Amino acid sequence: MSQALSTDVLIVGGGIAGLWLNARLRRQGFASVLVENASLGGGQSVKSQGIIHGGAKYALHGALSGASEAIADMPRRWREALAGNGELDLTGVRLLSDAHYLWSPGSLAGNITSFFASKAVRGRVDQVKGEQLPPALQHPQFKGKVYRLAELVLDVPSLIARLSELAGDGLLAAERIEPLREQGELVGLRVDGREIRAQRIVLSAGRGNAELLAALGFDQPAQQLRPLHMVLAKGPTLKPLYAHCLGGGAKPRVTVTTHPAADGEWVWYLGGDLAEADGVARDETAQIKAAQKEVADLLPWIDQSSTRWATLRVERAEPAQSGLVRPDNAFLAEQQRLLVGWPTKLALAPDFADRVLAALDRDGIQPAAHAALPDLPRPAVARPAWEELF
Ligand SMILES: Cc1cc2nc3c(=O)[nH]c(=O)nc-3n(C[C@H](O)[C@H](O)[C@H](O)COP(=O)(O)OP(=O)(O)OC[C@H]3O[C@@H](n4cnc5c(N)ncnc54)[C@H](O)[C@@H]3O)c2cc1C
Repeated sequence: MSQALSTDVLIVGGGIAGLWLNARLRRQGFASVLVENASLGGGQSVKSQGIIHGGAKYALHGALSGASEAIADMPRRWREALAGNGELDLTGVRLLSDAHYLWSPGSLAGNITSFFASKAVRGRVDQVKGEQLPPALQHPQFKGKVYRLAELVLDVPSLIARLSELAGDGLLAAERIEPLREQGELVGLRVDGREIRAQRIVLSAGRGNAELLAALGFDQPAQQLRPLHMVLAKGPTLKPLYAHCLGGGAKPRVTVTTHPAADGEWVWYLGGDLAEADGVARDETAQIKAAQKEVADLLPWIDQSSTRWATLRVERAEPAQSGLVRPDNAFLAEQQRLLVGWPTKLALAPDFADRVLAALDRDGIQPAAHAALPDLPRPAVARPAWEELF
């Protein structure tokens, strides 16, 4: 049997939530081990659009009440980390765009009026024109209005790679997780047969949390899955675009982000309303047709003849929504030594870590002495979908 280990915090799940938490714990002198059963970031994180929201999108339907929401502070915290002077040193992580844009293709719809009336947005949005427009919208035929939001878009694969470096020797590729109990109390986990004792255990396994909770004998907190049917387009005529395109409704009609493929071409990643209910119901062919029509309607000057298309089905894992759960904060629940949660957004990983650190602090958990870790089998970093699908 493998050697037993002990650590301060044992984390299960190496998406953005687990990796960010792990790096913050280590920076504060805690010992940690992070267990991953597939690839780092390969759940939702590397499939996300990488937008570091400041909450502006939510003001469209009035869900954002103001600066008290954690999300309003996220762009600043990420910017500082990217510059190397924040809570983590994320220098070297690729910034794809230092702004995300809000794009109203026609005349100003009602929703945009209430959007600008919102307290959360005032002072954070500037209209852009001409050469300041995103490259894909710089065309004589372009009509509509574009506003610059103070939100970032990150290259998530490089972010996951950096956080995996910051994890040092504490990453463990393993599949089977069982509870380790003493006198009925959870004191650690048995991971592929190896005992790992810890002062606290954190489940940050995305959709895997539900199954892990059941395996550990807990039935709370409940989880919900939200299916999406995303579309990817790759081709030599695509230029960078990072924007929510507004339709008539509360949600963006399409949210476009642009990602660099290894061969130098750009890949458009299309989400928003296109990828939600109706999009989920469509099969791959119909979903691609719907996306091609959206692009032809919104950006008719783009020659699509050499563009290749693919779709990706993925589910967002979140706490089951109740009146008490705010959409713009991370979620964390606690029972005994176990903490379990979902950041609910990539952007909110710092908030998720704050909540865990606050729980440790409240319980007086301090870094303890542990034997050095042996060489552990290390999980790989996930490849982005656009490298797998094209
Ligand atoms: C299409 C899409 C676009 C999105 N775009 C954005 C965006 O632009 N901005 C934003 O802020 N948010 C976005 N999100 C939300 C964001 O991606 C998620 O909230 C965030 O990535 C969740 O991170 P996580 O670490 O909790 O989960 P995950 O990234 O899913 O990571 C969980 C990890 O746990 C591992 N795991 C599961 N079970 C086990 C087990 N039993 N043992 C060990 N390991 C296990 C998995 O393999 C995985 O690596 C998007 C989500 C989707 C699906």
